[in-house]
Amino acid sequence: MSAAPTDLTAWPTRLHDAYVFDMDGTIYLGDDLLPGAKRLVVELRRRGLPVRFLSNNPTKDPDQYAEKLARLGLETPVEEIANTVVVMTRWLLANRPGATVFPIAEEPLIRAFAQAGIPMSDNPEEIDVVVASYDRGFDYRKLQIAFDAIWYHRRATLVATNPDRFCPFPQGRGEPDCAAITAAIEACTQTPCEVVVGKPNPIMLTAALGDLDLDPAGAIMVGDRLSTDIQMAVRTGMHSAMPLTGESTLEEALALDPAERPTHVLDRIDRLIPAELWHELGWTEDNDPVI
Ligand SMILES: [Mg+2]
Repeated sequence: MSAAPTDLTAWPTRLHDAYVFDMDGTIYLGDDLLPGAKRLVVELRRRGLPVRFLSNNPTKDPDQYAEKLARLGLETPVEEIANTVVVMTRWLLANRPGATVFPIAEEPLIRAFAQAGIPMSDNPEEIDVVVASYDRGFDYRKLQIAFDAIWYHRRATLVATNPDRFCPFPQGRGEPDCAAITAAIEACTQTPCEVVVGKPNPIMLTAALGDLDLDPAGAIMVGDRLSTDIQMAVRTGMHSAMPLTGESTLEEALALDPAERPTHVLDRIDRLIPAELWHELGWTEDNDPVI
């Protein structure tokens, strides 16, 4: 039975036990909070409901996200933020202890590896794991090192931080993301990437909700991308909501098999609050005091 568009765009009728938010395209776009984001988060916290933030982007560490959220007026403890810098570091420590890695990465990921004591090298004869990520310093030298470690020396495996093809910017622009770098290495080595730790991998949800004693099925995942945010919720049997303020569209959601669709598609993120409560709080589209 397929859901009608009216079902998909219906507001949630109840509050959830916890809220996991993607950030880019969901809470903010570029350097601006999206409409209703601040009052929603403030209201959820006021009600004692846990709020967590997730990002697939490995070019910032959680401290930098906390600083950005604070700058935008949404003070957030760093413990409530997880991204692929945190999750990739934990994955390597748990699954490749002692392995020497070659990070194709920007400073935050390299710094996290160093702080965790993960050995790093750019000598292909020593590399056990090539870590592809969103690296705006990617060049032919790095590709050659990865190629030699994986294909010539036949010793390294390939892992990646996130599956995103591009990172969306305001005004419809964007930057090539990790998937482009992973694809370059896979193309020349003919070796498939072994694991991608970012969304939709449920490892990310464990990182976000791991400190809370609750059933993820009672929480809701909120994000603007069908292929990552919503897919992760679908894989873990969670409810999900997709605000139409980022990448994916209602038409794209409707084109999916009903089992793959978000539970809710919302024109603005503060519609996560049930309608009667929204009106009770005196909220309207125009009276959001923070925008
Ligand atoms: Mg996003």
